[in-house]
Amino acid sequence: FTDDTTDILEPVEDGRLAEALEEQINKMKSIKETRKSLPVYQYRQEILDSIRQHQILIVVGETGSGKTTQLPQFLVEDGYTNDGKCVVCTQPRRVAATSIASRVADEMDVILGKEVGYNIRFDDRTTPDKTILKYTTDGMLLREFLNDPQLSSYSAIMIDEAHERTLSTDILLGLLRGILQDRKDLRLIISSATMNATKFSKFFFDCPIFNVPGRRFPVDIHYTLQPEGNYINAAITTIFQIHTTQKLPGDILVFLTGQEEIESMQTKLLEILSKLDNTKFPDLLVVPIYANLPQEQQSKIFEPTPKNCRKVVLATNIAETSLTIDGIKFVVDPGFVKEQSYSGGVSKLVTVPCSRASVDQRAGRAGRLGPGKCFRLFTKWSYYNELEKVPKPEILRTKLNQVVLLLLSLGINDLLHFPMLDKPKTIQLSEALENLYAIGALNSRGAITKVGQVMCDFPCDPEYAKVIYSSVFEESCNGVLPEIVTIVSMLQESNSIFVPGLNSEEKTKLFGSLMQSSDHMLYLWIYEQWEENGYSRRWCQDFKLQHKTMKRVLRIRQQLWKYCRKQDFLLKHDQNLTQLKENMPRSVIEAKIIKCFISGFPTNIAKLSKQGYTNIKQDLSVSVHPSSVIFNRMKQEGKPMKYILYQSLMLTSKEFIRDCITFDKYEWLTETMPHIYK
Ligand code: ADP
Ligand code: MG
Repeated sequence: FTDDTTDILEPVEDGRLAEALEEQINKMKSIKETRKSLPVYQYRQEILDSIRQHQILIVVGETGSGKTTQLPQFLVEDGYTNDGKCVVCTQPRRVAATSIASRVADEMDVILGKEVGYNIRFDDRTTPDKTILKYTTDGMLLREFLNDPQLSSYSAIMIDEAHERTLSTDILLGLLRGILQDRKDLRLIISSATMNATKFSKFFFDCPIFNVPGRRFPVDIHYTLQPEGNYINAAITTIFQIHTTQKLPGDILVFLTGQEEIESMQTKLLEILSKLDNTKFPDLLVVPIYANLPQEQQSKIFEPTPKNCRKVVLATNIAETSLTIDGIKFVVDPGFVKEQSYSGGVSKLVTVPCSRASVDQRAGRAGRLGPGKCFRLFTKWSYYNELEKVPKPEILRTKLNQVVLLLLSLGINDLLHFPMLDKPKTIQLSEALENLYAIGALNSRGAITKVGQVMCDFPCDPEYAKVIYSSVFEESCNGVLPEIVTIVSMLQESNSIFVPGLNSEEKTKLFGSLMQSSDHMLYLWIYEQWEENGYSRRWCQDFKLQHKTMKRVLRIRQQLWKYCRKQDFLLKHDQNLTQLKENMPRSVIEAKIIKCFISGFPTNIAKLSKQGYTNIKQDLSVSVHPSSVIFNRMKQEGKPMKYILYQSLMLTSKEFIRDCITFDKYEWLTETMPHIYK
């Protein structure tokens, strides 16, 4: 099977060769001119001098001024990669890392994956000994500390979008602060949109701050007079008001909270458009951008808008500061963002109002090329009285299991005194320790166990690593390693396996009795069938699955399998199989699968109670999301199941649980997790 993303030069007819060449030359020229026109370009030498002089520099500048694409190139041009070392730039988001690496490869006129590359989880596009400039996620650079605690392959590190204050960025900054003393040759650049700069400077021994003066045109801000009950409908109305009353050119950027919202709005917009008298108004081109969008569709947002057409970009807050789309004149901002939150042992995704700093950033996106307008779908009163000033750093509102495990495995035992911009509460740390103990990563003295070390090594969340581990080493559930690795791989991409908008009736037609099982078992069946059918695209189309996603799943599975081999899991698994009776019935396999998941997610369990389902640890009532197989089953079956294990919890209109599998026996909990459930 072919990789659709390989660079293939389109064959050109002889007569058109000159034309094609000219086009290429023009493209390079325009890229060069664009580079020179960016605000950072004027300060190139000053910035480079400053970096020579100071080991640490903070660079602050308006979004779109060229920090992310240009600064790392300046460093390469200034010789930072001459001695075989590499320049690396981190991004909080995968989409930003890949899309910017691809842009920079174009600017440097090299092939992506060679001199310029990216490395995100499960997708490494770099070439050892060749890549000199690498874009990566903050989480991936953090993992590099495990193999190389001094990060000795880098001469310069740029921590970009530091103002986002993701958990990984915060921990990275803490660790880097520690190694800079030993690595006097290493340069650290911290770049941020226009907030928080002094806080970073204080943290880094009062290092200098370089301000890149931006250009920004005035943006007219409009508020609604009353709070909006339904911001999606309000946004659609606003989009059409702009479209039918405002002159071209002038593209629209709409901020939504996630893929689902974006997809549903896209459908609604297209529906309305099909009814609109298209002789009266220009065309409206709808383009989405969110993390799970396939890459070639992502690049669509950067394509120039055709003549006599208006582009409307439906984006998550990735377009707030990470990606800059040229040509935006109107911003529509409902003022919400989806955030990870964690309290009382339960972690979930919630939609919350943005901070003032965020909505101001968003408004700024309308004023890059000329005066613009921003339509806020909330009241002025709310802006001044209800919104927080700045977003809450992730470290204060998320589960710390993974980073605590990482720090412990790096030998950092005194977590309370580890340098951090904002310290998590002691209770957060003790909860993380407790959780890690529960899944066996730590022993009762708080020291990291052998299993814990394995969990740290796996390129997935420690909870999933534990599930995989159990499928080999736990007596009650061993023998199902291949099945477990498949399900875990599918779960990493479960948001985008089915084609968008596929409803449960259609699913029932396609998958029949599997819709009476569970999400986990359906995923397993899908993958195994796809494999049996030669990983075929046609097969995916027949079953309304996204072939692109399935290929990603395949790649994830291969990598997890590689780790299993590295850890000698395969050897042990083969021994298990010879001891177990061959051809276990499906029901036995399923029981084992459930126990494996209990061992990794012992508290992601809802139990049947009078009011429906409630989390087993906390009195929190939850509902099964309509996209789940279990939801379908609950509609059909008279007898409800006692326990539901779920992979994620999301608060929208209700507390929804997704990716679920059910069981009836309480003994499975006591048997698998005696230290919690006995
Ligand atoms: P900053 O990091 O300061 O926000 P960037 O370096 O991301 O700024 O962006 C500089 C310019 O490069 C912007 O005008 C942006 O539109 C352009 N750019 C970035 N990525 C791409 C891309 N993939 N395709 C086309 N233009 C891009
Ligand atoms: Mg940037």
